[in-house]
Amino acid sequence: MTFANLGLSPSILQAIAEQGYEHPSPIQSQAIPAILTGHDVMAAAQTGTGKTAGFTLPMLELLSRGERAGPNQVRALVLTPTRELAAQVGDSVATYGRHMPVRSVVVFGGVKINPQMMNLRRGADILVATPGRLLDLYNQNAVKFRHLEMLVLDEADRMLDMGFIHDIRRILSLLPARRQNLLFSATFSDDIRQLAKTIVHQPVEIDVSPRNTTARTVRQCIYPVDKNKKPALLTRLIETHNWQQVLVFTRTKHGANRLTRHLESKGILAAAIHGNKSQGARTKALANFKSNEITALVATDIAARGLDIDQLPQVVNFDLPNVPEDYVHRIGRTGRAGAQGHAISLVCADETKQLADIERLINELLPREVVDGFEPVNQVPTTTLSNKPRRPKKPKKTQPEDSVQSRAERPPQQRRPRRRPRKNGETSGRVFTQGSR
Ligand code: AMP
Repeated sequence: MTFANLGLSPSILQAIAEQGYEHPSPIQSQAIPAILTGHDVMAAAQTGTGKTAGFTLPMLELLSRGERAGPNQVRALVLTPTRELAAQVGDSVATYGRHMPVRSVVVFGGVKINPQMMNLRRGADILVATPGRLLDLYNQNAVKFRHLEMLVLDEADRMLDMGFIHDIRRILSLLPARRQNLLFSATFSDDIRQLAKTIVHQPVEIDVSPRNTTARTVRQCIYPVDKNKKPALLTRLIETHNWQQVLVFTRTKHGANRLTRHLESKGILAAAIHGNKSQGARTKALANFKSNEITALVATDIAARGLDIDQLPQVVNFDLPNVPEDYVHRIGRTGRAGAQGHAISLVCADETKQLADIERLINELLPREVVDGFEPVNQVPTTTLSNKPRRPKKPKKTQPEDSVQSRAERPPQQRRPRRRPRKNGETSGRVFTQGSR
């Protein structure tokens, strides 16, 4: 399969060749023809699969065929959850469209709105935007959607996680009903499917990242360690393995700042990237990381989402995420495009539950390694995949088979119908104590 087979015109093929891409990735070979024929598309694809080109290339192709956007008008709108992702998608549009007469504009919050308003006066064939800033611009009459032909929702799952649902609904209400819709998401949860119903019509469904599987090119392991030893262990690992570029995840902004200070105090160049950092600081940290001027980029989940860093060799979970799906997102930063990556997690006894949840989700037990001098005093208990179901929130009646297998785990013929929901105040005979399952 080549890009030329996909129905793209010479000026796009030239830009692709200049990027050095030889073959379309699986998402590209499926999405490009579907989009070119005018279908709505719903695609499950994580960062690193080539999804951005998957929608950008056919979008440029289609837009190059029509009339240019009038003043303040937008022909294709790409919504992204974060400023970084907006900037990266904007860069891709500019790169792939460099030989085409297509005008693109990128807008996001955290920077002055006036230059963006001025820029939109000439209209945008493609507008890449974060939801909040887009609504601000709309409210100031800087952007008009009367001629909108195409809507792309990029990383829709993260948009919902970040609470953008109301902004998205408001934006949808402003758009013409007749348009082509493309929805990209790393995972398709029930919430995303619910949202999709209101956006895409008879979509072509593409799935290149089966739900909750982690890239096969990523080697994963955990280091059981006491919480207070984590910073020293990370320093030791960076030094012993001579890691030059490592993306480190922490659960909190404070944690990211604290760890960055610790690394710097040990002579490891590091920068933190999170929601409290200004746009300028975030862009600078990312640029320094990409150009190897700093060794460690310490990020929270939200800030790291969508960071486009090619072939990142090393990802470290300094803390395990509370939401197990975030683990899959995090380690998706490494092992891209066939390159071998390595994802390690520093796990303390308090995080046993998160660890078990992650292992259940990815259906694999993570191998453990211990570094001399960092053996945990507080042991991380051994986990098994056949863990009993999580402790129910409410007490329920004793059911002998429930203590062995959850309902969902039993073959359908052995499942009994669900009981009616218990009414308020109604109690059962079973009492759970702390620590029981
Ligand atoms: P994305 O999944 O859109 O974040 O893309 C991940 C990376 O893959 C980007 O750095 C792209 O430049 C690169 N890429 C996209 N398509 C291809 C391709 N067909 N061949 C090689 N690299 C690609």
